[in-house]
Amino acid sequence: MIEAHASVLAGWWFCGYRCIKQLKGIYPTEVSLAIKRGLRLHETLSRRTRSPEAQRLADTLDKYKVASETRPNDGTFFTRPFKDFQVLGDVDGFNLRADGFQIVEYKTISNPEWLRRAWYLSPQIFQEQLYAWLLEPTLHDLDMPLTRDHVIIHYDGKGVEQGRTRVTYDPSQVYANLFTIHGAYEDPARIIYSTIPWKCDHCDPVYKSTCSHPVKLKHV
Ligand code: SF4
Repeated sequence: MIEAHASVLAGWWFCGYRCIKQLKGIYPTEVSLAIKRGLRLHETLSRRTRSPEAQRLADTLDKYKVASETRPNDGTFFTRPFKDFQVLGDVDGFNLRADGFQIVEYKTISNPEWLRRAWYLSPQIFQEQLYAWLLEPTLHDLDMPLTRDHVIIHYDGKGVEQGRTRVTYDPSQVYANLFTIHGAYEDPARIIYSTIPWKCDHCDPVYKSTCSHPVKLKHV
């Protein structure tokens, strides 16, 4: 089985070539500032206390998680197979609502304007939909309904909330995306490359050096 982390699969919406390379085990040469900011935020948020009921559920859910071979130091993950992908992922948090389990993701954002940009939101929305898909069978076992809508909360670097994105989970949409990505994994001719110049301009050399489709920024 090929380990396919939800965060990597979500990157399909940023650039398909980079996503497929990561699925094949080629990772960036350096940790980006955005990832460092995100790690600090998660550290702060993970210290928050939960209600006794939510803590009991979190402890039960922990028993369903597995270690990752490719990320042995990153804790444990929920997992679900798709073809020869072993999809892995873990949620940042959850709300227990009257209608069930709502997934909550925390993201850092440098510019609140991006909350209106598809290039910024698409990977995050797909990542949260993947988490819902990963958790669905486990929550079903526990007789806990999954709510239809989930939420991404965006914070600035100081931990001040900048906005929220509502995410609807539709399993057929998740399957359609997984089929597309798996198809590109098997047949590079199906890879969809970034067409946005600034992405290519800031692309990690480990991808850009082998990519045949970099889009050049037009400097005027
Ligand atoms: S150079 Fe552009 S198309 Fe190529 S991997 Fe990087 S972001 Fe994707």
